[in-house]
Amino acid sequence: MMIQAVIFDWAGTTIDYGSQAPIIAFQQAFHHFDIDIPTADIRQDLGLDKLTHVKKMMAQPEIQAKWEAKYPTIPIEEAVIQIYRQSQSDIVTVLAETAKLKPGVKALMTYLEEQGIKVGSTTGYTQAMLDRVIPLAAKQGYQPQVNVTSEQTNGVGRPNADMLLYALKRLGVNDPKRAIKVGDTVNDILEAKQAHAIAVGVVVGGNQVGLSEKEYDLLSASEKRAVTTKAASQLKAAGADYVISNIDDLIRLIPALDIIEANRPTPEPILLTPGPLTTSETVKSQMLVDHGTWDDEYKRDTQAVRAELLRLANASQEDYAAVLMQGSGTFAVESTLGTAIPKKDAVLMIAINGAYGQRMAQIADYLDIRHVDVVFAEDEITDWPRIQSELTAHPEVTHFAVVHCETTTGILNPIETIIPKVHAMGITTIVDAMSSFGGVPINTADLGLDYLISSSNKCVQGVPGFGLVIAKRPTIDQTKGNARSLALDLYDQYRTFEDHDGKWRFTSPTHVVYAFLQALRELNAAGGVTARNRRYAENEAKLREGMAKLGYEPVIKADVQSPIITSFKYPSQQFDFQALYEYLKKNGFIIYPGKVSNIDSFRIGNIGQVFAPDIDQLLELIKQYSVVEV
Ligand SMILES: *Cc1c(COP(=O)(O)O)cnc(C)c1O
Repeated sequence: MMIQAVIFDWAGTTIDYGSQAPIIAFQQAFHHFDIDIPTADIRQDLGLDKLTHVKKMMAQPEIQAKWEAKYPTIPIEEAVIQIYRQSQSDIVTVLAETAKLKPGVKALMTYLEEQGIKVGSTTGYTQAMLDRVIPLAAKQGYQPQVNVTSEQTNGVGRPNADMLLYALKRLGVNDPKRAIKVGDTVNDILEAKQAHAIAVGVVVGGNQVGLSEKEYDLLSASEKRAVTTKAASQLKAAGADYVISNIDDLIRLIPALDIIEANRPTPEPILLTPGPLTTSETVKSQMLVDHGTWDDEYKRDTQAVRAELLRLANASQEDYAAVLMQGSGTFAVESTLGTAIPKKDAVLMIAINGAYGQRMAQIADYLDIRHVDVVFAEDEITDWPRIQSELTAHPEVTHFAVVHCETTTGILNPIETIIPKVHAMGITTIVDAMSSFGGVPINTADLGLDYLISSSNKCVQGVPGFGLVIAKRPTIDQTKGNARSLALDLYDQYRTFEDHDGKWRFTSPTHVVYAFLQALRELNAAGGVTARNRRYAENEAKLREGMAKLGYEPVIKADVQSPIITSFKYPSQQFDFQALYEYLKKNGFIIYPGKVSNIDSFRIGNIGQVFAPDIDQLLELIKQYSVVEV
């Protein structure tokens, strides 16, 4: 059974047919001050807590005018309090007269009990009123397990979700989507929507129809249809997921929800991960066509991709070449290290502050490349002074590699400082810009960078399938015969593209290439790397600030944070990442586990087809999760 709990409103929903009690009590209270108020003026805001309700009625110009004419010396704020107090004393007697269960409630309760579905209530009644009603209802066989008024939620009532979420928490229901909130007023529906519960409106005997049982029974069939249709459309306009006539229609709706749920197409989740990431529909749709690789058109498109990559990297066609390499990003890194570095008389220095720097060291081990590792703390940038002194201590170094955005934490390493200086020492430079290229501007030529590495499935927002290397021509031209692997020979791959007008060596990921070409078009149409950087940075700032408010502290400082991905420390030792992951997944978001070695952390990506409202929605979900969990 999908539904775990049903939360009921009181007046007009389970008791007090036509929601007469508050109307009578308010009318009596106003009458006490010699003011007549039309029933309709009271009805429109029913479901609010009673003090707010009086305030709203007194805010109406005609009523205010009547009051001022009669009591010119008593200010409106005081009037609100006096009328509220009067209604409170009037309603106690009125409640006793009207606290009769609506037809169908008893049958429904029997059904819910049989199904093991929990029952709770929220209400616009005050606690004093509720305390009167509970025993009267219990005597008739209706006894919710929990009853919440706004006095239990710091005075925050409908249309806010607080009462409903609190009732669910007390019932032990963690996922509001598995709860039904039933009510007869617009404010009931708004409360349900805010809590992301299933909002069910009940029409007959409710406030939107606003008739006593006797009055309603006297209507003709067509009159009944007219009033119920109108009430139903008001509740639907407020966002009701379902509208039922009588409360016991839930006995049919609840099993039907199981079927609806089972057949609901699962919406595509939003990936808040550092790649693969959420791509646009138009990028995805490019993959519906099969292409041959011998085709001239395909070769031209490959050349277009290569040319566009150089433009994004701020590198000229004369000085640089883009080389595509089948496989994931790591294949391109391995291909670059294994081809750029000669087998003899070469030493690689790797500046490491995370898992991707470590991975380069691991690749070097596999390929028998001598390497000097300069290891920094994972929450610190790879800063130049330390690299400089290591280079002085190791004059044998011929090649230098560093990660730009270290995706382990999301830290952005200062390649603008480091690379020109290392380059000036005559050392070949390699940057793993996997997770930053396309999302953070990089001036490859100005830096004097020899190799920049990225992949199809990161900030350009394509799908996974190939890595890409922007290589300085005079540098790569000298690497013939260096490769330790046939398939990963970057030099041979480069020469094949160059000598055969964009032909790939071996089978290429054709669908991925077409999707990538489309992603490049969309990147340009959206304003290029600068605009993309701005959007990611806005996502990141919103995420970091919003998470801080919810008690999640980032792993690294804001001044070294990239716009790509943000790592957060576990908020407590008991924090269960898997539970949060599953909860967000169920609600359409995929987040990422942490990779920092000495801190328990998790990660949320800001890249891909992800926009500010997505981050807002995520934060709202995490907020609700925290309310329910903590
Ligand atoms: C994604 C990424 C890689 C490559 O990882 P693959 O799983 O092989 O695609 C390498 N370096 C960094 C910094 C990355 O973010």
